[in-house]
Amino acid sequence: MTQRLVLVINCGSSSIKFALRREGDSAALLSGLAERLGSDQATLQWKTASALEETLLEDGEHGSAMAALLPLIEQHAGQPLSAVGHRVVHGGEHFTQAQLIDNKVIAAISANADLAPLHNPANLTGIQAAMAVFPDIPHVAIFDTAFHQSMPAYAYRYAIPEALYREHAIRRYGFHGTSHQYVTHRASLLSGHAPGRGAWLSAHLGNGCSSCAVLDGRSLDTSMGLTPLEGLVMGTRSGDVDPNLHAHLGRTLGWDLPRIEQLLNRESGLLGLSGLTNDMRQLEAAADDDHEGAKLAIEVFCYRLARSLLGLCAALPRLDGLLFTGGIGENSAKIRARTVEHMGAMGLKLDEAANNGHARGEAVAIHAKGSPTIWVIPTDEERQIADESLALLDH
Ligand code: AMP
Repeated sequence: MTQRLVLVINCGSSSIKFALRREGDSAALLSGLAERLGSDQATLQWKTASALEETLLEDGEHGSAMAALLPLIEQHAGQPLSAVGHRVVHGGEHFTQAQLIDNKVIAAISANADLAPLHNPANLTGIQAAMAVFPDIPHVAIFDTAFHQSMPAYAYRYAIPEALYREHAIRRYGFHGTSHQYVTHRASLLSGHAPGRGAWLSAHLGNGCSSCAVLDGRSLDTSMGLTPLEGLVMGTRSGDVDPNLHAHLGRTLGWDLPRIEQLLNRESGLLGLSGLTNDMRQLEAAADDDHEGAKLAIEVFCYRLARSLLGLCAALPRLDGLLFTGGIGENSAKIRARTVEHMGAMGLKLDEAANNGHARGEAVAIHAKGSPTIWVIPTDEERQIADESLALLDH
């Protein structure tokens, strides 16, 4: 039987990431990025196993970028697409799983725009542009929040008046759901559990960072909340701060809300602490050169991560393993080692040689004998989106 093809789309306000995935394959047939959309310097870049190419997009809008994809897909697919899978950031409480996109789903994504004003409108632009270019193919929405809809109320409710939840949907949602779902499923297979089973802590550490407790394929708690600002220290995001910080900055410095949002989302995290950069690779190099800010940023990052992971143990009946993924989690032996050092209370211990010797791109166990399992597992959100899109069609 021919393996089916899915075009995976992740559309931002000025960019479209895409990948053509063949069912069951671990690598994309074709992938790329249209960026600087909305400007006269918009480009489309794409690569295959053997080539990397780039072209200027004359009318650099989302629609024309999507139209430029059509001949590329036709050239590389060799068969019709079975589905187009769209990453959508916020599904609110409407969506607990992937959805075939129709007018009702579009209206619901639009209704959730208040919860993700930067992301959902951009995701919708991508959906509408793709539906115009690929009108006869099923389009599927995969939500970053959906995997976490299994959290119990005691994990997702804030201790604020109930009316704000009931009337305004203010609660914890969590993000990075496709990644946490993918790596915990992989961990169950790699560790010899039944597919999808096991009690896992997952740490997705990229530019955005979140931790998650997963039991038998269900998210029970996660570090991000109403928005992707809550929780861990990230590249430029502060993660948790005292909620009174807003009032304090308003009162003492006269800062308004947009200024404070800018501070906490774009000027904080690793960048703010180090005064240097949000890029972990550069921070590690600077810390090796004794840069005090870089050393502190790394210490705070690892300590706060360990504290979050230990806290998430409250959601699990036992611990089968800890998983590291994302650009930092997959590549930084130092961050993994320092984080696990803070987690001795749970009996977690690394095998130093396995941790340091881990090769890029491969899943590997890095725990010491007697410790709960610790894995590095490369995430593959595009594959998860492609698989979920096809699974929905099969239902
Ligand atoms: P992502 O958003 O998943 O692409 O992750 C981006 C983050 O991963 C950035 O902070 C990078 O500096 C970090 N990263 C990538 N490679 C390495 C590496 N070899 N060592 C440390 N951090 C890395």
